[in-house]
Amino acid sequence: MNELSMKSVTYHYVRPWEQRFAFLRHLNVDDFKAQLDFFESGYDLVDQRAFENALQSNTPPERGILLTFDDGFKDHFLYVASELEQRSAWALFFVPASPYRTGKLLAVHRIHLLLATGSHGSLLARIREIADVEQGLDVSQEDAGQSAYRQTEQTDEVKVKRLLNYQLQPQVRDNILDRLMVTQFGDEAQLCREFYATLDELRDIAARGFSIGAHSVSHRVLAALTPDEQRAEIEGGYDFLREAGLAQSLRTFAYPYGLPDTYDNTTLELLKDAGTHSAFTVEQRDTETDDILEGALEMPRFDCNSFAHGKVRSLPAGLDPS
Ligand SMILES: [Zn+2]
Repeated sequence: MNELSMKSVTYHYVRPWEQRFAFLRHLNVDDFKAQLDFFESGYDLVDQRAFENALQSNTPPERGILLTFDDGFKDHFLYVASELEQRSAWALFFVPASPYRTGKLLAVHRIHLLLATGSHGSLLARIREIADVEQGLDVSQEDAGQSAYRQTEQTDEVKVKRLLNYQLQPQVRDNILDRLMVTQFGDEAQLCREFYATLDELRDIAARGFSIGAHSVSHRVLAALTPDEQRAEIEGGYDFLREAGLAQSLRTFAYPYGLPDTYDNTTLELLKDAGTHSAFTVEQRDTETDDILEGALEMPRFDCNSFAHGKVRSLPAGLDPS
């Protein structure tokens, strides 16, 4: 890694371990604090002025660390914003719209929570059982998703994710998730309010000087959508922020998933049309001058696990989700 250029860092769940979501993969809040100590000892945390200067001058701040938090979790209100405030640090928070409109979790988070609460083997069996009844298994998709999980051991968890993310028809997948969520958690709207920061909490985060950016409406792979659907996802993400009183002077965006094949040239054009000031991927490398010169629409970001203290902790002794 080049010590002289800026590094942007992505965080998702930042929380203490809790029994209720025993198997949820998260960054422990104490490790998060230790990682901030590590950054503060060797780098400069980038604040809003430094970030805006960087984009205006096409020069990423040397030894700069830009902190970003995806998905609008309650964690960011409960544990992150106050910790950053104490350190006078700044960050960008990227929030998807649909949980606030539908009272349902994003599919990706439903899958995380279902896997977090019980045996992966019985979850897999239950999904297969419902899929069988609904005849939702698309046999032409039997090998789908193989490459995404090529490097991983074929555990029940991987099988659950392959089924839900690749092999089931989307409508059937959503029906299955609807049913599993009701059985497991009851009132999903209530769970939404516990799982994501509420609108008031997001306004509080913004009022404390942090920046809120768009993260699409429903967190789908944009490259898989028609241009009209992509436009609705992008503009809808910004409309949501405006209607919630969260619109910022800077229009920032984080791609759902964010790997290079999850967006395309249409996405880039639509983001430009929507007045996007900078957009963030999850390509793990330093931010170079060229990234800004080329419109700042493909700003790379490291995962927090690339740095000291950023790894997920092992489960408490005796816990096993298999
Ligand atoms: Zn996301």
